[in-house]
Amino acid sequence: VLRAALADTMARPRLEPTLELKMLSQDGRWRDYEATVTNLLDKPAVTGLVVNARDVTDRKALEDELRHQAYPDPLTTLPNRSMFMEQLETALKQGRQTGKKTAVMFIDLDRFKVVNDSLGHNVGDELLVALGERLLATTPAPSLVARFGGDEFTLLVPEVESLEALTALAHELLGALRGPVKLLGHNTIVTASIGISMSGERAMHPRDLIRSADIALSHAKEQGRSRFVLFDETLDKYSVDRLRLESELRQAVEKDQLRLHYQPEIDLNTGEIVGFEALVRWMHPSLGLIPPAEFITLAEETGEMVSIGNWVLREACRQAAEWRETVMAGRRFTMAVNVSANEFLEPGLAWEVLRVLRETDLDPTMLRIEITESILLDDSSIATEILLELKRIGVELAIDDFGTGYSSLSYLRRLPADILKIDRSFVADVDQDEREAAIVEAVVRVAGALGMRIVAEGIERIEQAHFLAEMGCQTGQGYHFARPAEALVTEATIIERNTLHSEDAVAS
Ligand code: C2E
Ligand code: MG
Ligand code: MG
Repeated sequence: VLRAALADTMARPRLEPTLELKMLSQDGRWRDYEATVTNLLDKPAVTGLVVNARDVTDRKALEDELRHQAYPDPLTTLPNRSMFMEQLETALKQGRQTGKKTAVMFIDLDRFKVVNDSLGHNVGDELLVALGERLLATTPAPSLVARFGGDEFTLLVPEVESLEALTALAHELLGALRGPVKLLGHNTIVTASIGISMSGERAMHPRDLIRSADIALSHAKEQGRSRFVLFDETLDKYSVDRLRLESELRQAVEKDQLRLHYQPEIDLNTGEIVGFEALVRWMHPSLGLIPPAEFITLAEETGEMVSIGNWVLREACRQAAEWRETVMAGRRFTMAVNVSANEFLEPGLAWEVLRVLRETDLDPTMLRIEITESILLDDSSIATEILLELKRIGVELAIDDFGTGYSSLSYLRRLPADILKIDRSFVADVDQDEREAAIVEAVVRVAGALGMRIVAEGIERIEQAHFLAEMGCQTGQGYHFARPAEALVTEATIIERNTLHSEDAVAS
């Protein structure tokens, strides 16, 4: 390059070309130079070519960084991560002068991975664009929305008016995101979780705020999603716990630390046991028995849920087959197994169910699969397809926690489910609050019209059981009858109840 420039300059003395060169410096590293060549052959004092070179390595590095920063996220056209960090730094600096606080919100779509994996990346992208637009439309002026990466958006609130205003904004964002999105012609409900951090009295590095918001976010997810959590110092310990649990959970199946508890289901008219629900627990070597609410979300996020689910399915079927021959011999009953979003959408669920039924020699009609209402994406044909596949095998299907999701009646009509499990929040006041009673009654009637049966969850008092039976609800479960317990304890309950019941029958 240099030689060519020199030749050029010889031929055309007034050219003065500028060139970029890489040269090896004395410390063995390549550095960038910008050089100009001036033809001074006709200057008697010089009579030569002068090469003027400057080291521009640092300037180039800065330019590269700026170029990277200057372009928004290509998919959503929102500012990207580095633009966000820069603005955050500025806001924190200004905040130190004005005394105003700066807040960061971490917004993460719930179950985005499921959408992405099952409907494809194009649909996933479409969803991100749509939700990015919603965030932008909901956010008032000085705030900045950015796509932080993956399915994570961040929001910078440079001057927090008050804590109330901040949480009101978080509420509004959750609401805006929750509205249905049309994907592949279907309305899909997408929810998000938000973690919020705010600058405090002491000087804060942007990194600290990001980290705190991230911790608050994982807390929000753990608490059941579609909610926000504001960071405070006590959450910090939690993140350590989470990391620890995450790695230990991976080995829980191998180390045989999972346990199933069983809760009987009772015929509300006769008092007979007509089934069981298998509920998983994690027997942690030092923390003791951990309930499913505290590790299932984690297991879903880390991808452990599928192997945990397979274990649950196999163990529950094995137990059912055993009880069929022993304590429940001669009685009809079902074994209910819960299936989470990941397991449900994992290809081959029906096949796995079939295999386990064969291996454990269990009749398909004795197995019930329970799926939480909110998994069944509104209007999703995929969910219906998977349910139909399971239906073809001959297992019973239940929609769990009914009333907490968003199913429309028309959607419900198309679902090939056999059972609606009324969420225990409706059962709680059924005998005391007329409105709750009216809801339950309506659900019972709808279920009847659609040919579905009702199971009521969370019956804690005998009055609730009476009320529900009167309304036409056949089956129920709850602490009033029996708490979920390990197999041996449940066997004792079975024996007790079965003898009680046969004495009843003799007496009457
Ligand atoms: P679920 O399927 O709705 O299960 C019913 C939950 O209500 C159980 O909580 C049960 O212990 C509790 N319960 C039963 N009777 C009463 C009552 O009278 N009062 C009150 N307050 N609660 C009652 P648990 O065992 O903590 O399970 C919570 C959730 O975790 C389950 O809700 C289910 O969605 C999920 N889960 C449990 N086991 C599994 C599993 O093996 N796989 C999957 N994917 N999810 C599971
Ligand atoms: Mg259930
Ligand atoms: Mg439930």
